[in-house]
Amino acid sequence: MKPSAIDPTKPEGVSHVNAQHPGRGGAGLGERSGKRKGYDMTPTFHPYDSDWVAAIRAGGPDAYDRPAEKAVSDGGGHPCRCCLSDVEKGAPMLVCSARPFEGVHPYAETGPVFLHAKDCNAWAGEGLPPIIAARAEFLLKAYSANERIVEGTGRITKTEDLTDAFEALFARPEVAFIDLRSASNNCFLTRITRG
Ligand SMILES: [Zn+2]
Repeated sequence: MKPSAIDPTKPEGVSHVNAQHPGRGGAGLGERSGKRKGYDMTPTFHPYDSDWVAAIRAGGPDAYDRPAEKAVSDGGGHPCRCCLSDVEKGAPMLVCSARPFEGVHPYAETGPVFLHAKDCNAWAGEGLPPIIAARAEFLLKAYSANERIVEGTGRITKTEDLTDAFEALFARPEVAFIDLRSASNNCFLTRITRG
């Protein structure tokens, strides 16, 4: 099993994910971003791979080969990487390590993530996922198809500036995907690809 099986990390993975979620083609940030020059596709926000999430919920090993820790949300900022919503106060959740990259290499960061302990619906909506709309700023990093940070792309970005940031980054052909991380803790939140 891939320890960090998020879909996709490579361009060829995009069609695979979309094939699994044929109804999500319209996911994105709205028509504004889709019509602007140099940006002809709306971005897609990817939940963590559903097979990996199911395995973790079943007690399987995380990126450090350990079962997830069990906790209860206090309602304060515990973003589930499956439904891309914060875990509700009082709801059981899992805390585990994740490495959202296909390969093991110097750029393949591993860090903590939260998941609803019980089944939730993997994000397949349109517009901004709830975990994004609920936060003021993020760390953005753009990666090449071989999972290397594209030099100079890492920066703290305010939520209202995300659309412009995505547009600028996806206008660069060497950018294969963008990772959105916590601006304060560097935790991986979600991956974004061209639509
Ligand atoms: Zn969830």
